[in-house]
Amino acid sequence: MVDIVAIDGPAGSGKSSVSKQVARDLGFGYLDTGAAYRALAWAVAEGVVSSDPTPNLDQFDYSISLDPDAFWVRVGEFDVTAAIREPRVAENVSKVAQVQEVRAFMKQLTRDLVSNSGFAGVVVEGRDITTVVAPDAKNRILLTASEEVRLRRRSAELTPAQAAEVSKQVSDRDKSDAKVVDFMTPAPGVVLVDTSDLNFEQSVAAVRSLVERG
Ligand code: C5P
Repeated sequence: MVDIVAIDGPAGSGKSSVSKQVARDLGFGYLDTGAAYRALAWAVAEGVVSSDPTPNLDQFDYSISLDPDAFWVRVGEFDVTAAIREPRVAENVSKVAQVQEVRAFMKQLTRDLVSNSGFAGVVVEGRDITTVVAPDAKNRILLTASEEVRLRRRSAELTPAQAAEVSKQVSDRDKSDAKVVDFMTPAPGVVLVDTSDLNFEQSVAAVRSLVERG
C-alpha cells in the first residue's frame, strides 16, 4: 500500500508549491490532480477530445510525472505542461470539473496513478482528495489562507491590471468549484493548516510536522 498524504485547498493557498516541497523532503512522489482536469479542458478546447455535450473520456490519453523534480503532463503525443496553465484553460476548467462522469473518472485515474507510482508514498493535492479520492489516507490536510492573502500571492508578479483580472478569475473559479466540492471547511478528521501568516518555509514545516507525527 502506498502511503498517501492528501492535501486539499483553494487556488492560491500555496498547496502546489508546499506539496511539492514536502514530497521532495520525504522522498515521496507528488501528484497534482488539478493538472488532469486542466489537461481535459485543454483537450476539449483543442478538439483532441470530443464533447457532445460532455467530454468523451475514451479519447483522453493522459499521462503525468509524479517526480517532484521533473514535472510534465501529456495528452497523447502532446506535452501540455505549459499550455494547461494558460488563462483560457483556467477559464474553462471548472465547467469540465462539474461533470459527474468526469469526477468519477478522475477519482479512479488518481487512485491508479498512485498505486502504480513506484513510490513508497505520494503527496496528492487537489480539491476532493481528503474527502472523495483518499478519505482513508493517514494524513489528510486542508491548506487555506485568507482570500486577501491568496489573491496577493497569485498577483505578486503581475502588473496591477493583470492582477485585477487574475483576482476576478481566481474568485470566479473558486465560486464555481465550490458548487461541487467543499474545499474550504475541513471534513471530520481533516487537519486545517491556515497559511495566511506563514511564509513558504513555515508552511512546509507545518505540513511536515503533521506527517512526521503521523
Ligand atoms: O489545482 P488547480 O487550480 O490546478 O485545479 C484546476 C481545476 O481543476 C480546479 O479549478 C477545479 O475545477 C478542478 N479540480 C477538481 N478537483 C481536484 C483538483 C482540481 O475539481 N481534485
